[in-house]
Amino acid sequence: MSEADALIEGLDPTQYNAVTSTDNPLAILAGAGSGKTRVLTRRIAHRVATGTIDPQRTMSVTFTRKAAAELRERLRALGMRDNITTGTFHSLAYAQLHERWADRGVRPPDMLDRKFAMIARLLGRRADTSEILDTMSELEWITARNISFDAYEFEANRAGRKASIPVTDLLSVAKRYAEEKRRQRVIDFDDLLSLAIRDIESDPEYASVIRWRHRHVFVDEFQDVNPLQFRLLKAWIGDDPDLCVVGDPNQAIYGWNGADSWYLRRFTRHFPTAAVVQLGWNYRSTPQIIAAGHAVLPKPDREAELPETNRADGPEPAISAHDTDEIEAQAIARSIRDHAGPGHAWSSQAVLVRTNAQAAVIATALERSKIPHRLRGKSSLVDQPEIKQLFKLLRDSKGPLASVLPDLRAAIGVSGPDDEMSAAEADRQRNREVLLQLAIDHAASHTTATGFDFTGWLLATARNDALDSSGDAVDVMTFHAAKGLEWSVVHLAGIESGYVPIAQANGPAALSEERRLLHVGLTRARDEVLINWAAKRTFGQRAAKRHRSPYLDHLDPQGTVSAATPPPDSRSRVPVDTDGAKKHLSKMRSELTDAEPDSPLYHDLTEWRRTTAREQGVPAYIVFNNRTLAAIASRHPSSLDELLDVPGIGPTKAERYGAELLEMINSR
Ligand code: ATP
Ligand code: MG
Repeated sequence: MSEADALIEGLDPTQYNAVTSTDNPLAILAGAGSGKTRVLTRRIAHRVATGTIDPQRTMSVTFTRKAAAELRERLRALGMRDNITTGTFHSLAYAQLHERWADRGVRPPDMLDRKFAMIARLLGRRADTSEILDTMSELEWITARNISFDAYEFEANRAGRKASIPVTDLLSVAKRYAEEKRRQRVIDFDDLLSLAIRDIESDPEYASVIRWRHRHVFVDEFQDVNPLQFRLLKAWIGDDPDLCVVGDPNQAIYGWNGADSWYLRRFTRHFPTAAVVQLGWNYRSTPQIIAAGHAVLPKPDREAELPETNRADGPEPAISAHDTDEIEAQAIARSIRDHAGPGHAWSSQAVLVRTNAQAAVIATALERSKIPHRLRGKSSLVDQPEIKQLFKLLRDSKGPLASVLPDLRAAIGVSGPDDEMSAAEADRQRNREVLLQLAIDHAASHTTATGFDFTGWLLATARNDALDSSGDAVDVMTFHAAKGLEWSVVHLAGIESGYVPIAQANGPAALSEERRLLHVGLTRARDEVLINWAAKRTFGQRAAKRHRSPYLDHLDPQGTVSAATPPPDSRSRVPVDTDGAKKHLSKMRSELTDAEPDSPLYHDLTEWRRTTAREQGVPAYIVFNNRTLAAIASRHPSSLDELLDVPGIGPTKAERYGAELLEMINSR
């Protein structure tokens, strides 16, 4: 089989079409877990294999460092060496600017690392923290929306934004902030994009160099592009683009930050000659998870047809009510342990939350329970002492980064974490290896970069998004950070009004975005979702009474589980039913009558399931769920036909397990 043929192996017809389509520009739209990122990376590799693009002139773009790492990883798995430039809008702009400054012998401005302090000073008077943060987020929004100061008031009103400081004060700070940065010769994170745009738009000759170099542009998660990023993208691709974007409007979750999913929804308005294709199936999640994710979407999206999946049934999402946030965290820790075990790495599970502060509470509980975990955003790679040490080596080095790599490799050692190392040292070693990998990537895509440039780039971009080492650990992160990623088992914590939706969300647009956030959280799971909420939560000195998220009504309309009347195990599996409460109730009832019968056959069946699951290295419910086992136990099927009549047993399972099951039943 040729290399190109191998790349279209195992694709469904819609994916095949998206990978091989010659349309340009091309937008690929599809729901969570339908293989968008897979199609994007295969399309790149396929075009390289068929010679229609030059990898050296290809750029793949996404929004967070984690997503960029994932893209890079997937490209590498497809045999792409490190020659495809992959990064976030910010990291790519940063690299572009540095190269230009180096070419022109201009000393690069420093990155502003005390933005909060500067804004606080400019605000003067006794500005409190929330005013300062509000001002910062409004300034960022103005930049992201690419609007002039004059247009701010109108646009902010239109978007329903309410800052805590008067517009005139805000604009005065905005102007003085720009002047102050110029005076101190520093730039902030967003200036990277504006400056990169200015360079290209103001210099046609330079523009053509950039457009030659990055001839083929691919963008993942395009629903989250903001006007400033879109303008940079337009600057990159020019009037004769070779562009492919993928995205899912139902996962647009950065509107608060200025993103605009209409660039994707109305792709052909921006690119009139473009083609838009859809993908047809979900590959990630069980039908139960897909239904749950779908049910919480805003109208009218949740009324659209359910995405199809070719995955077998799994358990219904479970909703657990807890008395307090602390108990919630402990229960999650226990549940993580219950789902762990041989063949189930810690890293196959994640705890997802709405805010960073919640993540800290969960992480503390996991620490207490001695569950290895990774908290994104808390201790970013660049803050680790072992990394700072290596920074020194890089900064002091001479010549291009590529020539420093052997020294870096030698300093790190190539052995990788081994059994002799303590867990902490193994962690440090993994961090060092992550750094080495980043340096190799950087050297490959930025040939003129020095070790010094690389550390600057890393520091600048790490601010946006922490980097993770790759050890085996449960991930703890926000819904926002989890976008594009997947785990077998996902625990959602704090699914309460105030978090989901977040207290400050007001207006239909903001509330719809909160629904999409929950949708993103739910659809990260392949096999199982466990939803948690607490009836009381402590904020500093203050304890607040909480109510479960209203969005859970779509999953459990009767509120079967409440903190006031917890069922014996304070947990119930609730079937998601988009058709209405009636069907839901009857399903609940039959589930209750079917559940856990006290029969010897049922007992034997669960024993058999446990052994079978262990042999196959899959979770037990993948073999059969409790309901199916209960149905078998009550019906005693004695032939293959009767077995096929049992709800939950299809031809595949009948073929795989039928003989064994019938033997067990008939021998009683
Ligand atoms: P998201 O919207 O969450 O970013 P996505 O649409 O990018 O999701 P992918 O991450 O590309 O989806 O794919 C989801 C999962 O399904 C991955 O584990 C992927 O390997 C798997 N998958 C996709 N297409 C296929 C296929 N044709 N055959 C088998 N597995 C597939
Ligand atoms: Mg994706």
